[in-house]
Amino acid sequence: MKEIFLLKLGEIVLKGANKRQFESRLRQNVRRRMKAYGNFDVYIMQSTVYVEPMDEMADVDGAWEACGSIFGVVSLCRCRPCEKDLDAIYNAVEAYLGEDLDCAESFKVESKRSDKRFPLNSIAISQEIGGRLAEAHPNCRVDVHHPAYTVYVEIRDLAAYVHGPAVPGAGGLPTGVGGRAMCLLSGGIDSPVAAYMIAKRGVEIECIHFFSYPYTSQLAKDKVIELARLVTKYCGKMTLNVVSFTQIQEAIRDNCPEEFFTLIMRRFMMEISQKLAKRDGCGALITGENLGQVASQTMEAMAVTGAVVDMPIFMPLVGMDKEEIVTIARKIGTLDTSILPYEDCCTVFTPRHPKTKPSLGQLIHAERNLDREALIQQALESVERISVRYHDEPGI
Ligand code: ATP
Ligand code: MG
Repeated sequence: MKEIFLLKLGEIVLKGANKRQFESRLRQNVRRRMKAYGNFDVYIMQSTVYVEPMDEMADVDGAWEACGSIFGVVSLCRCRPCEKDLDAIYNAVEAYLGEDLDCAESFKVESKRSDKRFPLNSIAISQEIGGRLAEAHPNCRVDVHHPAYTVYVEIRDLAAYVHGPAVPGAGGLPTGVGGRAMCLLSGGIDSPVAAYMIAKRGVEIECIHFFSYPYTSQLAKDKVIELARLVTKYCGKMTLNVVSFTQIQEAIRDNCPEEFFTLIMRRFMMEISQKLAKRDGCGALITGENLGQVASQTMEAMAVTGAVVDMPIFMPLVGMDKEEIVTIARKIGTLDTSILPYEDCCTVFTPRHPKTKPSLGQLIHAERNLDREALIQQALESVERISVRYHDEPGI
């Protein structure tokens, strides 16, 4: 008898008029994610996504793990479908969850009857199934208040489903319902976490990385590609734009006062990012900036770097402690790659005494010997677009 997954929808249940659009986007996202694992049927009924393997070849464990990183799902469970009939339900529980019950000290049955045509109400179903299970598992007592294990019975439209405790889903909103944004992705810990956090709000992600060959190595670039790939586990495939930044950095080094190096460089990054973002239909930029973390992340510094763009800049980590950011990086699987020791272009020409309280006037003055437009144009012509996806198979 086969096993299927039920994915319960999160906040999207609340979204009234948009609900249909959200649900269909989620179904589409789940379908796409399941392709790598074989033939699965994916459908939505009663605010639940059903994921059903259609043949023996399906990689059910791989699919289950992938479902845990799909945004818009608040919780998920593996379950066994059966006839809407008490004997069939009892037999399904025994066959599917009997071993779990044998290992538990106590249990209860929790039932939900969304098909009101079923003759027993939920309390009666729980009593009936619970009574039979208690007899069959004398070492596992009934405890309706603090059970060590809970058996769930759901009477739905198509069938009855039995399962053990659900696990938490990835939360958030389905990818694609919140527009598209461009993340400035460095090789550090912060920016992949920032991309993940905005992706969680239903936003499609595109990334941009500034690369200063030969000051930074091919290994540093490979690391960024790998970070982007790790983030696609959550946000789906993305484009990573790699911009050659060497000429701009050398021009800054040769023509500007040292204390402003980082800020001028960051202003170029923002401006170039916005140009690509607008070209690709993005509505915002994302950075991993964090208030007070380094000299270029004071309020005054953020004001002068933000001044070159008119798009919203999302900085989801701005108020977090490093420890909190690291915890998320570890959870989403980017930390080990982020801490590989390859240099970022920001560290190449770091000023000895960076300006922490700059004014816009000072920046404009410091940049006066640069031909900004020409440098930006040249950088835009250098862009390498890399298509990044979690799995290598084409079409997934
Ligand atoms: P991260 O850990 O993300 O590198 P950070 O704390 O090292 O962040 P900075 O180096 O000051 O901070 O960079 C701030 C933000 O600017 C980064 O989070 C990222 O969004 C962006 N950024 C920095 N370097 C690059 C780069 N080479 N390419 C693209 N974006 C960058
Ligand atoms: Mg950095």
